[in-house]
Amino acid sequence: MGTENKLPMNGGYPMHGFEDLKALYFVYIKSESGRKMVEDAYHLAAEKHAGVYRKSGEPYIQHPIEVAYILASLEAGPATLAAGLLHDTVEDTDLTVEEIRSRFGDDVALIVDSLTKIQRMKLSRRKESDFEAEDHRKIFLGMARDVRVILVKLADRLHNLRTLDSLTPERQKAIAKESLEVFTPIAHRLGIYTIQSEMEDLSLKYLEPEKYQSILALLNQREANRQESLTSLKKRIADILFEHKIPFRMESRVKSIYSIYRKMYQKGYTFDEIYDVLAIRIITATEMNCYEILGIIHATYKPIPGRFKDYIAMPKPNMYQSLHTSIVSGDGNIYEVQIRTEEMDKIAETGIAAHWRYKEGENYNPKEEQRDIEEKLHWFRDFVSMSGEQDGSAEDFMAALSNDIFNANVYVFTPLGKVIELPTGATTLDFAYKIHTKVGDQAVGATVNGALVPLNTVLKTGDVCEIKTSKSSPGPNLGWLEIAKTNSAKSHIKKAISKREASLESRENLVKKGRETCLAYFEKEGFGSGEMDRLLGEEKLLENFHVESRDALYMAVAAKSPTPQALLDYLNVKREKRKPRLAKVQSSPSCPVEISGGSGVMISLAHCCTPIPGDHIVGFVSKGKGIVVHRANCPNVKDSARLLPATWRSDLGVATYPVDIEVYANDRPNLLADLLVTLSSKNIVCSDLKAHLIKENMNCNVMMTVYVPDALTLEGVFLALKGVRGVYDGRRLIH
Ligand code: MN
Repeated sequence: MGTENKLPMNGGYPMHGFEDLKALYFVYIKSESGRKMVEDAYHLAAEKHAGVYRKSGEPYIQHPIEVAYILASLEAGPATLAAGLLHDTVEDTDLTVEEIRSRFGDDVALIVDSLTKIQRMKLSRRKESDFEAEDHRKIFLGMARDVRVILVKLADRLHNLRTLDSLTPERQKAIAKESLEVFTPIAHRLGIYTIQSEMEDLSLKYLEPEKYQSILALLNQREANRQESLTSLKKRIADILFEHKIPFRMESRVKSIYSIYRKMYQKGYTFDEIYDVLAIRIITATEMNCYEILGIIHATYKPIPGRFKDYIAMPKPNMYQSLHTSIVSGDGNIYEVQIRTEEMDKIAETGIAAHWRYKEGENYNPKEEQRDIEEKLHWFRDFVSMSGEQDGSAEDFMAALSNDIFNANVYVFTPLGKVIELPTGATTLDFAYKIHTKVGDQAVGATVNGALVPLNTVLKTGDVCEIKTSKSSPGPNLGWLEIAKTNSAKSHIKKAISKREASLESRENLVKKGRETCLAYFEKEGFGSGEMDRLLGEEKLLENFHVESRDALYMAVAAKSPTPQALLDYLNVKREKRKPRLAKVQSSPSCPVEISGGSGVMISLAHCCTPIPGDHIVGFVSKGKGIVVHRANCPNVKDSARLLPATWRSDLGVATYPVDIEVYANDRPNLLADLLVTLSSKNIVCSDLKAHLIKENMNCNVMMTVYVPDALTLEGVFLALKGVRGVYDGRRLIH
């Protein structure tokens, strides 16, 4: 605003009146009701805070006005502004949350209530200078409820930092330290750069006053030279872009003091070594323009190798998009050049706030907004779900937060291109748990960039990772705690192990209970306990009831399926059937097919058409081979008179049957590996893989034998295989 230099100042900052705030939000809040809500909130806050002064000397209401002013510069909506104006009333005056609710509605009440709780908790802290992990955890919990709470809290803290001068040095340092530990990481993760960088610089000013001042002095010292070099660079670039008729505007800004401080004192550079103290920003109309401008810049100036980054094609997790490159200008200075569109620029400055800045006329829906933000920033979802876990100590929670979320800077892709953020050193196992707890618990291996790797493989940015799972995986063990680097994975692993231990115990109980239930029935039928154990341990019976062991059968009985009566029925029927047949039946015991009129004959499945359960089948009487079962449409047995009706047995076990299939694809590197990975991800065994490349059209025919339990599963296999890039068809083979 042009009037700012006429405003009264405090600590180098202009002090705004309500009229200044109004001028700001009138630009984007047009509705009467919205404007009235903000104005009412202001009058109520002014009335309640009347007669109270801040330590810095001005009337208390100055603080909420400035907080709302910061929020309005992010184009926050009426409820957020009203909450900003009222944020200290419940804590400091006799106003209640209920009164706020009745006058301003649920949203404003919820935001003020959360902020009040955060405030109270901090006041009850034992020692002022101590930052208790438990406190921080509660701050996060309070903020996770509604993202607008975070926005108001950030604005509140920013204004407090601007007016720290009136506090004691201990309080100044304590607030600055907490800001860097808790609030700037949040601002960063939400992409609200304007708040983040101002907070960082202000915190540094109080935490490291000498270093802050020395960097400031160095910047001022170079100012004259820099301006000269910059002006000529900007002029030259402008000339060229005009020539190419590309729309643009240009900005330049010195890097923040805090970012220079970090490079100097945490990474050990000297001031002169920091290339890009100066960044120039070119803002243009379209994404296409961005790349055009990049091409022109690189054709005109020498780019520095390794410094080009395409955040347009690959946005940062906080949604930041821009092209970055560093160039050597005509006079030998090095500049970072950032190229982006207006929309990207808005998001770069105000992040998530830009994304859901108040839009007049659209129905505002906080629930949708919350969902939206969680989708956009999946770290936030992790964080909200972590906040919900009440077990575990506050220290664990804070460690998890700072390790898993704030320090997550390795970006790994799923095969579908979704980005998963992980901390440095994280392994494929961490990746598995990030995808889903279940995926983690059943992980048996992984492929990284197409190669099979174990679960302790460390991932790096750009890797494409896919987890191989198996339902029969033995699951997490203590060794996994060494492999996992993220706290969230570790906590899931610990949980799974203790759950399994608990279930082992209850497993024993269930076996005992099931066995007792059976014994009651079996004794009535004249079986002894030893005989029952033996009969119920027979493989055929276990297979019939789809269980792996006698203990599993007893557990199933305890769970009421099957009943002991069903077991007795099965044993009786079998006994009766066996008697007359025993003499002549030679049919293979595992034969899955029933042929009417074919009992006693050897039955086998045809190799030409490889029938599987679910297929329509016929029996073909062949000399010397007994009955061979073919698919009904197999050309080898069509129109034959020697056919018998055949059906699949209804009590099939868990066996798998070989099927020959062929897949047609456009050839590409790693095609076969991808096919195999796809099969193994579905737990399908495959053998006899043969690939045949047709050179003329680069088509690849892949023949293989897969082992499936039935036709339905096979359909799923085809679907999965057709999902592999390059594959365009697949079918069963008949030889
Ligand atoms: Mn406040």
